[in-house]
Amino acid sequence: MDLNKEVQFVKGVGPNRVKLLNKLNIYTLKDLITYFPRNHEDRSIPKKIAECEDEETVLIKATALTKITEIRARRLSIYRLVVNDDSSSCVITWYNQKYLKDKFKVGEKYTFYGKIENKGGTFEMKSPVFDEDGVDKNTGKIVPIYPLTSSLSQNVLRKIMESGIDEVYGNLEENIPNYILQKYKLLDINEAYKNIHFPKTNSDFIKAKSRLVFEELLALQLALFRLKEGQKFDEKGIKYDSNVKMQDVIKTLPFNLTNAQKRVLEEINKDMEKDTAMNRLLQGDVGSGKTVVSIVAAYKAVKSGYQAAIMAPTAILADQHLKNFTKILEPFGIRCELLVSSVTKKNKEKILEKLQNGEIDILIGTHALLEDNVVFKNLGLVVTDEQHRFGVKQRATIVSKGNNPDVIVMSATPIPRTLALILYGDLDISIIDELPPNRKKIETYAVNKEYDERLAVFVKKLINEGRQAYIVCPLVEESDDDSGLKSVVELAEKYKTEVFSEYRVEYLHGKMKPKEKDDIMQKFKNGEIDILISTTVIEVGVDVPNASIMIIENAERFGLAQLHQLRGRVGRGEFKSYCILKNEGHSKVCKERMKVMCQTNDGFVISEKDLELRGSGDFFGTAQHGVPELKIANLFENIRELKEIQELSSQIIADDPNLEQEKNLRLKNLIEDKFTSRIEI
Ligand code: ADP
Ligand code: MG
Repeated sequence: MDLNKEVQFVKGVGPNRVKLLNKLNIYTLKDLITYFPRNHEDRSIPKKIAECEDEETVLIKATALTKITEIRARRLSIYRLVVNDDSSSCVITWYNQKYLKDKFKVGEKYTFYGKIENKGGTFEMKSPVFDEDGVDKNTGKIVPIYPLTSSLSQNVLRKIMESGIDEVYGNLEENIPNYILQKYKLLDINEAYKNIHFPKTNSDFIKAKSRLVFEELLALQLALFRLKEGQKFDEKGIKYDSNVKMQDVIKTLPFNLTNAQKRVLEEINKDMEKDTAMNRLLQGDVGSGKTVVSIVAAYKAVKSGYQAAIMAPTAILADQHLKNFTKILEPFGIRCELLVSSVTKKNKEKILEKLQNGEIDILIGTHALLEDNVVFKNLGLVVTDEQHRFGVKQRATIVSKGNNPDVIVMSATPIPRTLALILYGDLDISIIDELPPNRKKIETYAVNKEYDERLAVFVKKLINEGRQAYIVCPLVEESDDDSGLKSVVELAEKYKTEVFSEYRVEYLHGKMKPKEKDDIMQKFKNGEIDILISTTVIEVGVDVPNASIMIIENAERFGLAQLHQLRGRVGRGEFKSYCILKNEGHSKVCKERMKVMCQTNDGFVISEKDLELRGSGDFFGTAQHGVPELKIANLFENIRELKEIQELSSQIIADDPNLEQEKNLRLKNLIEDKFTSRIEI
């Protein structure tokens, strides 16, 4: 069975249709049969006319009471037919369908499928599809509905699909080993492809779908696990000096490390002393102390004779890192330097020269580090902070500046482990699941606009005590719809001139120039601004320990993980801190989400909840995380299956890393077939 056969050779596909199919990225027979329906319409079970609700899409089985009558109105011809069943009658109309004129015979039965109107017991159905009774061309079955954008019609694609499935049915080679099919009670591949498109019953469809979801997730997870295994064997990395003790720098810190930090550092130390390259995701909630972990790792790298690169998403953050690194590492004679785009040309030249000579040990910066002329003498450790701001490619670019350097990717977005294994499937994972002691819980409250006045009084009180405030809102420009969304500029104006006229109010948003943004942020940090109104650009962390309250406008518009990330901007100092979630959401889910935020400060709990309550793909901007494109599975909806499949996959890989055993040969093909070309690390 040649699934790579061009789609033009499928029955019913002519040159014009080839073009339309190509627009849907369907080039081969395989592309065709894996073009899965968006949903199905069940046109198999008729409903009594009298029981139909208004606007319901239904199948009715009824007898023609009249011949079709034609009504002409200007250029429009309306064809009208009256039918009935034993419950009621219904008027059926079509527009400009001349061929219908002699289609119906009085006294004969037909089935009609379409949207019905029920106006107080008077029924009308417009432009339904239909069959003579006993025929199941357009009705009488479950019909797939495909996601279509081009001018290809559902009917045409359905016909082509029927030919495609006819051709492959019985000829598809099973790609899941029998022992797995049996254990998980999965449908055979031929039935699965047939029934995903043309199921006889809903339960046939469900079985087909779950088998195909399983197949896809299994292939993906196995491919990722193998990739990770492979990296360990292929890449000779740096073996750091086991005589350089992390403890030497740890004991100089002004605080004790948390147990979680210690554990994670042990994992990192072990990796660093191995001669394979480390690829590790360091996950920890905001404020969990990831930076110091990277400082200790950098110490080890430098003292072993290598350089380190620390990449942060903004200049302010890079600057903050520089200060932290210098404070701890300078006493050891380690030289840290900052490279951001605002560094003058002359200074930059000097820095680049020193870097190449090895006179700089640790280079900290932004995207500026990625430029071609940034050349290290011997880069051994790469740390990227707040990974979701960097693409996989950028990570690869900075890594390529060393000779298989060790890599630590730091992320403050707590992702449930199940998902992390997919999103960062190529990385080992370390989790800091503990906050430093004496962190105060951020008191969180959900309120509506009735609280505006009281809230203003409270904010003023805090500012008068010397604190600062953040106000976050979702949009930048003045909102041109009436959805009531606040925009930064609009809001800043109002707060500046009315509510908080006696305070220093500034605003910040993503469309401002980086320099402007940095200036404002710096001023806020220096205490020269009382209230900072901002979009989510502040979610990536600059420490302003004096800020003790954050008000989030239209909180219902944000994902929970994002709210949590934002909230992490306060509570960074010694002051009791507050987060106020202003929202006008009335739905149950919205209330539930606000409740979660008020009840817990644990990022992992929140992200699990987010997943549960949203269950959809826009979960903290998945695109940025490089979620692989899936044809049928949904990482969020299928999280339970995913868990099961991960267990299975890790057993398989542990037992047979190269999938060479007889029983696993199908799996090897499955991976190669599905993902080898798609996963680029
Ligand atoms: P994040 O994980 O969000 O990057 P940081 O590394 O910025 O967190 O740490 C937040 C703050 O907590 C910093 O001021 C840091 O010095 C401090 N910190 C980190 N670890 C500890 C600890 N074990 N005990 C006390 N304070 C700590
Ligand atoms: Mg950080």
